[in-house]
Amino acid sequence: MEKETTTHCPYCSLNCGLKLVTRGQTVTGYAKWRQSPFSSGGLCAKGVTAWQQVHHPERLRLPRVRRGDRFVEVGWDEALDVAATGFLRIRERRGDAANAVLTGASLTNEKAYLVGKFARLALRTPHVDPNGRLCMSSAGAAAVRAFGLDRAMTPLTDVADADAVVVIGANLPDAYPLFMPHLQRARRRGARVAVVDPRGGTLVRDGDLHLALRPGTDAALATGLLRELDVLGLVDDAFVADRTVGYGEARRAAEPWTLARTAAVTGVPAAGISALARLLGRSERALLLHARGCEQQVTGTANVLAWINLALAAGHAGRRGSGIVTLTGQRNGQGAREHGQRCDQLPGYRTIDDPADRAVVAARWGVHPGELPGRGLTYVEILAAARRGEVAGALVLSTNPAVSGPRSGAVRAALDALEHLVVVDPFFSETCRHATVVLPGSTFAEDEGTITTTDGRVVRVDQAVPPQAVRGDLDVLRGLAHRFGVRHHFDFHTGREVFAELCRVSEGGPADYSGLDWEALRDRGGIFWPAPRHRPEGTPRLHLDRFAHPDGRARFTPIEPTGPTVPAGGAYPLVLATGRVRDHYLSGNQTRRIPDLVRKTPGPVLEVHPQTAAAVGLVEGAHARVASRQGAVELSWAPNPHLRRDTLFVGYHWPGINDLTSDALDPTSRIAGMKHTPVALDPAGLTPAAPDTDRVCDPSEDAVAPNPA
Ligand code: SF4
Repeated sequence: MEKETTTHCPYCSLNCGLKLVTRGQTVTGYAKWRQSPFSSGGLCAKGVTAWQQVHHPERLRLPRVRRGDRFVEVGWDEALDVAATGFLRIRERRGDAANAVLTGASLTNEKAYLVGKFARLALRTPHVDPNGRLCMSSAGAAAVRAFGLDRAMTPLTDVADADAVVVIGANLPDAYPLFMPHLQRARRRGARVAVVDPRGGTLVRDGDLHLALRPGTDAALATGLLRELDVLGLVDDAFVADRTVGYGEARRAAEPWTLARTAAVTGVPAAGISALARLLGRSERALLLHARGCEQQVTGTANVLAWINLALAAGHAGRRGSGIVTLTGQRNGQGAREHGQRCDQLPGYRTIDDPADRAVVAARWGVHPGELPGRGLTYVEILAAARRGEVAGALVLSTNPAVSGPRSGAVRAALDALEHLVVVDPFFSETCRHATVVLPGSTFAEDEGTITTTDGRVVRVDQAVPPQAVRGDLDVLRGLAHRFGVRHHFDFHTGREVFAELCRVSEGGPADYSGLDWEALRDRGGIFWPAPRHRPEGTPRLHLDRFAHPDGRARFTPIEPTGPTVPAGGAYPLVLATGRVRDHYLSGNQTRRIPDLVRKTPGPVLEVHPQTAAAVGLVEGAHARVASRQGAVELSWAPNPHLRRDTLFVGYHWPGINDLTSDALDPTSRIAGMKHTPVALDPAGLTPAAPDTDRVCDPSEDAVAPNPA
């Protein structure tokens, strides 16, 4: 008999709802969930094919242990023994901090919570950090500084009330396809749309403003806009006086950024800058949406703060239908940064350096505060420490740094330098090739738990089928914890059990989930946090009366735009930006295995402005060579007249693309500047190999030997 299980798409942070159709223990397809919040049953090409990953022939079904240069399939007990023993030996010889955990922001809230707890109480290491560090950390750092809380201040459905929508460094049609119907409705209602991006494309329609800024000049543009808003007399003086502090300093810092200077630095015509200032200043309600385009830079935090300054000056924050919010990248980009799997954080969005926060969490975990490690290294820093030999053991869960890490040649060297690497993944990812032990992980259909959407709505995912490899991710953590002698801290068998503890531990923290009710999450289609015990209905809109700082006021920050630390020029005159394409997700470890998606988008295609292509002599049908200070790749290319002439773009979902990017970090958020890589472009001298998708999908690459036992 067929059954339908309500859940959410496992890819982007919109978390569109869907129903998985099962027959017995097999997922046979999907059905629309028309009542699902935000998407009303709609799904993009990734969403409709997501179910195909569940029983995919390349799913890992048995653990593998490295023997020499091959992997051998073994039973779970043996694999967990080898995995745990490796970490214990390293700890004994070199101390707790010689082990680390790299994790993912696609994990459910429950797994994110448990991984953080596992790092602190089982491995006892300070070094645990998710790949969300490479996505949302600039936005998070800026929101905490400006508003006192890192959560979207308004539901994305509020776009329906906005008179103006400003999209900053976000390719909505490709990266957030189900946002487009909402935007189209706003347009039909008369809302003006402005796009701030070096790349135009299908997002920009007739009548929109398009500010095609020079890559790396976000802070300069936003600061110039702040000054222009003031010059035009369009600052919301009452809002600034009543609800903010620091405008005077921010305005003084903006004084050198005249219209002429801003235009010269950013490459945006003065008329465009002035038009956006007028749009923001004269709109009653405006929604500013920003994403990796402005955040994933070595000045990412300053960039976001500069845009926040502008929104505050125009009065577009803390009012219904008005706001400035980040669009998180990954499925659980929001929730996975709240529950303690970051190196600087404890559950409930508490701070690991704060003695009071440490005492609360320690008490709820039943340990002494002194047993909690302190602040550890961030994601990229952990990999650098591995390369230097300071970190010798790593547990990698739901992340694929060999493809998605910046300067991935150096990442692969780091993985090879590890003495012990345990990877948990549903598929044999590129990172698995470097592992000592590979443990099969769960897909979304096998999970039970919660996810927090990009705008802060906690939604429930239900298990459609049992784990295909018998043990799910919770069982893996429990099995490892048992071998560390701390099973009592991890004795969870269902996501719902972990959810109950997570809610309890989060109580009183900035991300307070304590009032959430498991059944209500399903009945209501999700609940916005904070949802403290006394307000279980949650909080869709934040900051309506006061911001989250103790004095209730938002903070302006004086910004002195500096631009990238290594600007384009000399031998590397162009700028490469990497990003998402419509049919793939993150490192492609899932989507590069789905035939429909591979047919539509089989490999990376470098986008080049036609005049740039002509200037360097690219030939249609031949390949291009892109070289940076970090590496070089040869790629198919296609002309894109909607791109700046000094900018190239390529999707990052394939091995080799991040060989080009740099691992230089933003000083605050520790995000890598993957949106700004100075490069040289030439015709390729050699025909490149076939797209790596073919190789990755070839199971013979996995080098599995039959279990000799
Ligand atoms: S990828 Fe995003 S837009 Fe597409 S179906 Fe999934 S959640 Fe919705």
